[in-house]
Amino acid sequence: MNMDNGLIETHIHLEKYPKSERDAMLEEARQGGVEAIVAVSMDMASCERTRELALEYPGFVLPAYGWHPEQPLAEPDELEALIGWIRERHAAGEAFAVGEVGLPYYTRTELEAAGETFDESGYVQILRQFASLAAELDRPLILHAVYEDASKAAAVLREFGVKRAHFHWYKGDAETTRLLAEAGYMISLTPDVLYEPEIQELAAHYPLEQLMTETDGPWPFEGPFAGQATHPLMMRSSIQEIARLRGLGEQETAAALADNARQFYGLE
Ligand SMILES: [Zn+2]
Repeated sequence: MNMDNGLIETHIHLEKYPKSERDAMLEEARQGGVEAIVAVSMDMASCERTRELALEYPGFVLPAYGWHPEQPLAEPDELEALIGWIRERHAAGEAFAVGEVGLPYYTRTELEAAGETFDESGYVQILRQFASLAAELDRPLILHAVYEDASKAAAVLREFGVKRAHFHWYKGDAETTRLLAEAGYMISLTPDVLYEPEIQELAAHYPLEQLMTETDGPWPFEGPFAGQATHPLMMRSSIQEIARLRGLGEQETAAALADNARQFYGLE
């Protein structure tokens, strides 16, 4: 299959790859038809590394700046410094999105399964700050919010009037999925679309114009990808599977998904 200039990686933790591995991977990705990569961040140090990569690969790596929810709560001054730094990037006219932000679904449910209580109010407050920032700066917002947390996050988006939202690696029940689709939010599918029935269901039925692909690398995958380092070119297999599930041609599907990402992220 020829997907030249038809692939956009909409969520990867590029700064987490060792440099030698990353340089080779980006070269292969480019050669293989990846035209742009959205690189997300975890915290201040991660944002700074991601920005360096965006400067190193101008027009290829679009950075996203945020604070990942699956970690101990940020201190107020740490958060204030990060938001101030993002405002500086905006004032300087730099290209970026806001993310990865959201709610700590996996941290919370693991603790709850172990019989512990979990207070998520601090995380909701942080998400509110980033939603407010994204709305004010009119930047795309990238969310880590799955299952019941997706509807909690959607309520925060409505509160701040956020229209440009991307729920990365989204999973959730039919009602939440309908809510996101009707609100016009984007979702992205990872390579687990090849082996996870709940993701295949989304791939088959979520509005095509609101779908994108990603890898969330270096997060590792199973099934046909077991033991492989996660690479943006895995999106080729995802697109083949999405096309098969929807009964569409592969070229047509690749072109539609890339157009969605170009439009949503304002890529040329
Ligand atoms: Zn991520």
